[in-house]
Amino acid sequence: MSENEAVAGLALVRARIGEAEKQAGRPAGSVLLVAVSKTHEAATIRSVIEAGQRVFGENKVQEAKAKWPALRGDHPEIELRLIGPLQSNKAGEAVALFDVIETVDREKIARELGKEMEKQGRRPRLYVQVNTGEEAQKAGIAPGEAVAFVERCRSEYGLSIEGLMCIPPADENPGPHFALLEKLARQAGLSKLSMGMSGDYETAIGFGATSVRVGSAIFGARETH
Ligand SMILES: *Cc1c(COP(=O)(O)O)cnc(C)c1O
Repeated sequence: MSENEAVAGLALVRARIGEAEKQAGRPAGSVLLVAVSKTHEAATIRSVIEAGQRVFGENKVQEAKAKWPALRGDHPEIELRLIGPLQSNKAGEAVALFDVIETVDREKIARELGKEMEKQGRRPRLYVQVNTGEEAQKAGIAPGEAVAFVERCRSEYGLSIEGLMCIPPADENPGPHFALLEKLARQAGLSKLSMGMSGDYETAIGFGATSVRVGSAIFGARETH
């Protein structure tokens, strides 16, 4: 997709978010757009930055490390979010690079992040990923364990969790998954909900999403390998 198309995609997604906020009776600007730039080239991303977008999501530490230091050089206020699974041996790099890590999903990662934050004196904001569909192939903590896990992140690992994140099963109505995530966040005393992607961000806004992670609706289809 060309740079102009990405800029047009961004404008369209922003307009739809505004419309969905209105429909849901929520204040304009209450939903944060995370532009998911994974697999896309720096030139395309730069055009979206120039159009005013400041919050981006990447799913791989290595890819983000290769692309973002240069892109960010011109715009230090950019916020970069990790939205893909984190391996414990990459925790240090993730803490150094990202402003928000949305995929805290097990004890080992929580422990490593706690250690790295202490060591680096840098504290990215954190979300716990919940596997709302309890899918075997998907990362995330089981819904029944989520509230206790958030509590242990605080008490055992010194981590302050800001919100919850989910990716509903691809072949199901996402509504019940968004509702479940909202309920778990309330039980855990958390106010932030990262939910909704290109196909369902308007639905997610109706269920209380505070941020939506949108890739292909802005940047076009990703190349699959
Ligand atoms: C790729 C990705 C997205 C964006 O997906 P689109 O359908 O392209 O909007 C959102 N969240 C996560 C976790 C992703 O990996």
